[in-house]
Amino acid sequence: MTEPELLETERRAVVDHAAELADLTPGRTGNLSVRGKREGDDGNDSNSNSDSDSDNDPGDAFAITPTGVPYDAFDPEDVPVVGIDAEGEQLAGEMTPSSEVPMHTAIYRREDVGAIVHTHSPWATALAVANEPLPPIHYMIVAVGKGVPVAEYAPYGTDDLAANIVAAMDEADSTAALIENHGLVVTAPDLPTALENTHHVESLARLYLESRSAGLEPQTLSDAQLETVLEQFESYGQ
Ligand SMILES: [Zn+2]
Repeated sequence: MTEPELLETERRAVVDHAAELADLTPGRTGNLSVRGKREGDDGNDSNSNSDSDSDNDPGDAFAITPTGVPYDAFDPEDVPVVGIDAEGEQLAGEMTPSSEVPMHTAIYRREDVGAIVHTHSPWATALAVANEPLPPIHYMIVAVGKGVPVAEYAPYGTDDLAANIVAAMDEADSTAALIENHGLVVTAPDLPTALENTHHVESLARLYLESRSAGLEPQTLSDAQLETVLEQFESYGQ
């Protein structure tokens, strides 16, 4: 299973960013993946309508962190590549993919996203084990939506769990979901954004819980206030 060319950029991204998981999650419980195109780059011309009118094909495979190795102990050729089609088989990579590969596969099948980060980071997971969503207590929440819902529990690594996660995200219109009695999952167009937003959710979960632990009652922003922040974010940097 050595296909060094397959999803080369995406596998490099996994290697470059995997160590950031260590800041978020204890032990080796987190995983992340990046979606890419399996077949030879079609960048040169074939469908010459340069900006494709059918939205950019997000790709039919993904590179994911391997299981059971430290985050800094693997190279791009080790990084498993898994197909998003019905079989979901491993297409390349010397190492075995994360045990939560079915969750990633199933989310990519349902959602047009470019990267997924999954952690058992302690503050978000503290909410998840209490089946408590994260409310909009701070404007930075809009990085993922107007709150972070809790996806209903299902055994890890199952298609049911992925369906519950996607359902919770869709219903809340959020790109993040807590997973009941489990952890956190965040999706984004690319891996740096997914990681950055994972950090946002983790620190907001901490703020929320620290405030409540102090006996305070955190206020939430109104829908109108959140809409204003979204407008500000949309015009920022353009
Ligand atoms: Zn997990």
